[in-house]
Amino acid sequence: MEEITGVIDYGYTPYSEFKNNVEKVVKIKGVIHNIREMSDFAFILIRTARELIQCVYSPEFSEFRLNENIVEQASAKITGKVVKSETRDGSERYELQIHDIEIISSPAAIPPVVISKKQVTCDLSVNLDNRPVTLRNPKERAIFKIQEGIQRGFREYLQSQNFTEIHSPKINFAGAEGGTNVFKLDYFGKTVYLAQSPQLYKQALVPVFERVFEIAPVFRAEHHDTSRHLNEYISMDFEMGFIESFTDIMNMETGALKYIMNLLKTEYTPEVELLKVDIPEITSIPCIRFKDAKELCVKKLKNITDMKDFEPEEEAFLGKWAKQQFNSDFLFVTHYLSKKRPFYTMDDPEDPEVTLSFDLLFRGLEITSGGQRIHDYNEQVAKMKKMGMNPDEFETYLMLHKYGAPPHGGLGLGLERLTMHLLGFKNVRNATMFPRDINRVSP
Ligand code: ATP
Ligand code: MG
Repeated sequence: MEEITGVIDYGYTPYSEFKNNVEKVVKIKGVIHNIREMSDFAFILIRTARELIQCVYSPEFSEFRLNENIVEQASAKITGKVVKSETRDGSERYELQIHDIEIISSPAAIPPVVISKKQVTCDLSVNLDNRPVTLRNPKERAIFKIQEGIQRGFREYLQSQNFTEIHSPKINFAGAEGGTNVFKLDYFGKTVYLAQSPQLYKQALVPVFERVFEIAPVFRAEHHDTSRHLNEYISMDFEMGFIESFTDIMNMETGALKYIMNLLKTEYTPEVELLKVDIPEITSIPCIRFKDAKELCVKKLKNITDMKDFEPEEEAFLGKWAKQQFNSDFLFVTHYLSKKRPFYTMDDPEDPEVTLSFDLLFRGLEITSGGQRIHDYNEQVAKMKKMGMNPDEFETYLMLHKYGAPPHGGLGLGLERLTMHLLGFKNVRNATMFPRDINRVSP
């Protein structure tokens, strides 16, 4: 009987090992990304999981001859000799002098969009229509490798701070955040809602684990077609108990962001270089109260009508202001108006018109909302009633408060929003693998 014992090493040499194999014959696997034929030789770029390996074909090196099966997007196994190649900038590069190519899978058609050049240059909508193909382009791919790094940094940092990773249900009896942007679903004849955030569940788990986090999709029925809203996005959430102040949450986020940026610098260098990512230096993050930030905006910008919240132009202005004043790419805005924050937000005991809450702006865009939550049962019930809600509908949520909860708070950080501004995109769809918006549910 055959036995299965674990992952088999088939003896392929990763590019990172080329430096130890100069002048030796090695075996690699990958997809033919690009072929440039010259008169008596050819460059064949092989796309592996993370890099492009330059392979050189010449009748001088091998018996093998190029043929009609050697086409872009074919999957191949290649053997050849590793040689050090000349680079203009003097950096170390290695290439493979091809001895043999074995094609193991051939494409049935030529890609609908050119992906073998440095960049995908078609319109964003065409790019998104052809996502399974355009994501193969190394620059497109690098966006999502960076995105992986962000999630990984968030996870690793919180794990180091004794947070427990959780998964909350996405089909719920009520939307957590209220408002009109909740998706309704027919659930065996009953109306249920897709989760707008893991809010109610992560709070319920504070008395269980004290500190929890979740990285998962959330759903918002955004009715407008904007450059910063998706209908499904990845929310990086955490919630922590026994906080002494709501600034503990902001400090935790600052720690996480420092860790993430450092991780990108150290472990995502190929992608950071390829995309020329401008990684923010974070030493500390300045804070400003909502009221003061609003005054600044009113002084500097015209036609401000909404005094309870910020328009995107105001956020952009505050981003520039933080850069000029504090040389910071980030700015915490605190103490948002009680009227504008959800029912679970704790009011400031010193001024109940405002809340112990914050948003984090990154280069002039909101990427996080967070704050301290109400933990006292009577206080929560009273606030619900004041806001016209029926506490009876939230019986299971209120178990948290009824049976005792420590002071706690947390936040939600939009992964695509952070990726978008880190990489300097104007549209959040650039930083979303398969975006869902009012016009798009496919691919
Ligand atoms: P906005 O005011 O920008 O519409 P919001 O205040 O309604 O956002 P929150 O409920 O505070 O959003 O969500 C927390 C974070 O989740 C936001 O700071 C943002 O990073 C992200 N986010 C919210 N809505 C979306 C969306 N529709 N698409 C992508 N990311 C979003
Ligand atoms: Mg918000």
